[in-house]
Amino acid sequence: MARGIGTKCIHLEETEGQTTHYGAISYPIYQTATYAHPAVGESTGYDYSRLQNPTRAQLERVMASLENGVDALALSSGMAAISLLMELFAPNDHLIIDADLYGGSIRLFEHVSKKNGIQFSRVDCWREDVEQFINDRTKAVYIETPTNPMMNVTNIAKVANITKKHNILLIVDNTFLSPYFQNPLDLGADIVVHSGTKYLGGHNDTLAGFLVTNRTDLSERLRFLIKTTGAGLAPLDSWLILRGIKTLGIRMEKAQANAIRIAKWLKEQKSVIKVIYPALPEHPGYDIMKQQARGFGAMLTVQVESKEFALAVLERVRMIKYAESLGGVETLITYPATQTHADVPAEIRERNGITESTLRLSVGIEDAEDLLDELGKAFKATKAVNGIKYD
Ligand SMILES: *Cc1c(COP(=O)(O)O)cnc(C)c1O
Repeated sequence: MARGIGTKCIHLEETEGQTTHYGAISYPIYQTATYAHPAVGESTGYDYSRLQNPTRAQLERVMASLENGVDALALSSGMAAISLLMELFAPNDHLIIDADLYGGSIRLFEHVSKKNGIQFSRVDCWREDVEQFINDRTKAVYIETPTNPMMNVTNIAKVANITKKHNILLIVDNTFLSPYFQNPLDLGADIVVHSGTKYLGGHNDTLAGFLVTNRTDLSERLRFLIKTTGAGLAPLDSWLILRGIKTLGIRMEKAQANAIRIAKWLKEQKSVIKVIYPALPEHPGYDIMKQQARGFGAMLTVQVESKEFALAVLERVRMIKYAESLGGVETLITYPATQTHADVPAEIRERNGITESTLRLSVGIEDAEDLLDELGKAFKATKAVNGIKYD
């Protein structure tokens, strides 16, 4: 029987029954840069930690197992992973990228990849016909689903049919749902990207990134690139992410349950114009999410009545922290216009619907009652400040 994803976060089937490392239950941290060779022309399998390190290798096996890939590479951050990925492409190559992406990815594509001669078409992959943007130089389609922060949902299998027909790559940034809720390789993607800093690490304490593939040819090319460019994840950080992954399942379930409660509460507030969360049946991506994912995640975006109201909420939260990032045990609130998406050109931001009254919540695993109490106070006090009557 195939194991459940929650079990796979804790146990690696391929190493089961082994009693190496003195039986240590927690995988050891191999804090070493280099390795002695047993004899001339021989190797233990490990030569130098830029190429391979046992702790990083263990994490990579776990990630490959969670995403049903043949190989996973662990890098020093999500952006290091995406930067490495871009080394697969050469000047004059063309990529189709989703119009709504993580701000750092947009910055990389706009300011670094373009300088290197790579061309991009920005497409709303969830509603536009991706195929019509493919030309004879197109090498890949790059998407997130749900997107950050507008939570647009793209049908992965549908786009995969198109990329396979044209023999180009489908790359999916799966950070928002984590492998616990969604496995893009199973739906036809060729490479999955993760910011391990988010749900995988889960504690807002470590940066990490991943590239996972189910194609051995891509694995070989990426392995050559990681040893050449050198952004592999350090041993201690690999261990911290390994530890984080063990509780991925219960964290995702609890964060999602909290997010559903908060979304329902927000919908009842007069000062809220719109709650954008794919677990709400009115969300345009709800049915696709039900088909292609095992859950909806815990990221939600709210349009409030005004910029002043949004800023006042940010001023008033205490336990909920006004901070960038997401996916940790702590609930965080973000103001995309000046934080995560500040470097995204204003016209792109507006086109995507990111306004000065947009707030993004990364719901954590605190007690739901305390989160609702905190939000209730922030929203009420804000109303008083704005001279609007209490409910
Ligand atoms: C945070 C994030 C990244 C970048 O990852 P870092 O670990 O911060 O470098 C990429 N994609 C998404 C969706 C993210 O949320």
